[in-house]
Amino acid sequence: MVDPHGVLPLCGAGKLHCSITPWGDVKPCAFLPDDPACIAGSVRERSLLEIWQNSPLFSAFRRLGNPICEACGDARCAGGCRVRVYAATGSLGGAPDPKCSRLAPAG
Ligand code: SF4
Repeated sequence: MVDPHGVLPLCGAGKLHCSITPWGDVKPCAFLPDDPACIAGSVRERSLLEIWQNSPLFSAFRRLGNPICEACGDARCAGGCRVRVYAATGSLGGAPDPKCSRLAPAG
């Protein structure tokens, strides 16, 4: 996925790459836990292509996922790191990356 300016997103999870566990579960990023909420499907049940193209989880990773990022105007980060969002909130969407430099307090 390349943005209209020809710049690759800083996070490629679900856009440029994915991860397949040794037991066949497909996740957008290898650093996501083996929580069912982080698993898009299993290559033991569906093809990787079908999961990549049709999984709601992968579709969600291709959107910014929260109103703060959508209003930011600089989508090159692709919404930041969803692993950090998940670690901080227990959810993959709805909040920006807690390490976003634009949200960090000035100081
Ligand atoms: S930025 Fe986070 S979600 Fe994206 S690839 Fe790196 S670890 Fe995974």
